[in-house]
Amino acid sequence: MTHPMSQVYLNGQYLPPDQARVSVFDRGFIFGDGIYEVIPVFGGRLFRLAHHLSRLDASLAAIRLRNPHTAQEWNSIFTRLLEKDGKDDQSIYLQITRGVAPRDHAFPPNITPTVFAYAQPLKYSPPEQLAQGVAAVTTADIRWARCDIKAIALLANALLRQQAIDQGAVEAILVRDGVVTEGAASNIFVVKNGRLITAPKGSFILPGITRDLVVEIARAHGINCDELPVKLETLSSADEVWLTSSTKEILPITRIDDKPVGNGKPGPMHTRMFALYKDYKQAFIQGKAD
Ligand code: PMP
Repeated sequence: MTHPMSQVYLNGQYLPPDQARVSVFDRGFIFGDGIYEVIPVFGGRLFRLAHHLSRLDASLAAIRLRNPHTAQEWNSIFTRLLEKDGKDDQSIYLQITRGVAPRDHAFPPNITPTVFAYAQPLKYSPPEQLAQGVAAVTTADIRWARCDIKAIALLANALLRQQAIDQGAVEAILVRDGVVTEGAASNIFVVKNGRLITAPKGSFILPGITRDLVVEIARAHGINCDELPVKLETLSSADEVWLTSSTKEILPITRIDDKPVGNGKPGPMHTRMFALYKDYKQAFIQGKAD
């Protein structure tokens, strides 16, 4: 296997990817007992780092793991992983598992967490997806009831995403009890009569950093934005639907279940929001935003 990065971080060491080894008894491998983060890097700077670190704290607290590093330590680990000569935008992947112990569901005492991180070039969505929008399918949200934890156990998400791909779509829009929660790996926004609506935070969605930024930007520019349950009927009658994530940014969804969203083209609100988002990113690259 070839790797796009020259080194990875594993438990205090910086190693060539092929030399990084984790025990088969790691609880991440055995139970999916761990959490992760993905942090985009624009212009060599870690985008919204404080927000990502506070979500990391929340995920760790939820699975009863102590944060093994201070914010400053994380910053220096991530910075060392960034490809210095890499002109492209990058992303940091960070994973913390409970560590290595004989297989037993109960937490072992005195266990040392496994900490793994790497940087890689950021793979943006193809420009035609941004220009024309993408297709999505609705599926039952078969995940557990703690989707707010950024858990590495992503079997349901992977099954749902693959189901979308098998149906020629890019993302699965998950529906729980008639209400849209989020995408398999993204948050969902609906535009209806000039207002934005996205699911409220809680245990059924991951609190996306991009979601929060879109809400923040909307409110700063006088765009109405409600954090309210999105019923399936609201999705079907929406003027626009978007997905948001750190790596896909803000992507228009123009077909859902083989039917056009609105007029089947990315809408004016997306154009406006994406321009505002790019302005924010530019200000960030220039050191004028966090
Ligand atoms: N929901 C889920 C289930 C996700 O996996 C992700 C991230 N891939 C998101 C939402 C978006 O979060 P963020 O904007 O922080 O990338």
